Amino acid sequence: MMIQRMEEAQRLTYRLREPFLTTPEVSLYKALTEMVGDRYVILPKVSLNDLFYIIRPNENVHFFNKIFRKHVDFLLCDPSTFTPQFGVEIVRPMSKHGVREPDKFMDELFSSAGLPLVHIPSSETYAMSDIIALFQLAMTKFGGTLVERSDRRKESVPQCPVCGKMMVLRIYRNGPRSGEEYYGCMDSPRCAGVVAIG
Ligand SMILES: [Zn+2]
Repeated sequence: MMIQRMEEAQRLTYRLREPFLTTPEVSLYKALTEMVGDRYVILPKVSLNDLFYIIRPNENVHFFNKIFRKHVDFLLCDPSTFTPQFGVEIVRPMSKHGVREPDKFMDELFSSAGLPLVHIPSSETYAMSDIIALFQLAMTKFGGTLVERSDRRKESVPQCPVCGKMMVLRIYRNGPRSGEEYYGCMDSPRCAGVVAIG
């Protein structure tokens, strides 16, 4: 009796947060897992402070405060080296005023550090094709700012934004873009990854 009461008194004031992941986070985790298979490891809630460091920290204290105690919803890493490949953020609806604008700071942070950030609207269910399209959008935006046009002349081919494999130059055979070139995943049609050339 006495011992029990002592244990009660010594219990620290920490409790488990429930749930650890929200329903939309769990749904997206499952959809991402299905999409990437074993090509990436998916880590939920990665602290920005663990993911990025700040150059010249003494001059840039203000920038430390911006990432301190914040996290990215999911981080996709190479399974053998754990090198980060993609950040994934759920775009949560605001209470009354519809969908919130994606966080501009997060966009700038990821693009400065050279990591594509994919924005996925919060939902209870996710269609694979929508997620793939959002990954492609993030890669296109990212490639648009980082890949020099001269790189293309060196025949540098992008990696598939979906599975990370090599891409091959293809030509649309029909439809409105018939005759236009694009990069398609070498694993097509098993993988739907494409990157526009433009
Ligand atoms: Zn692919």
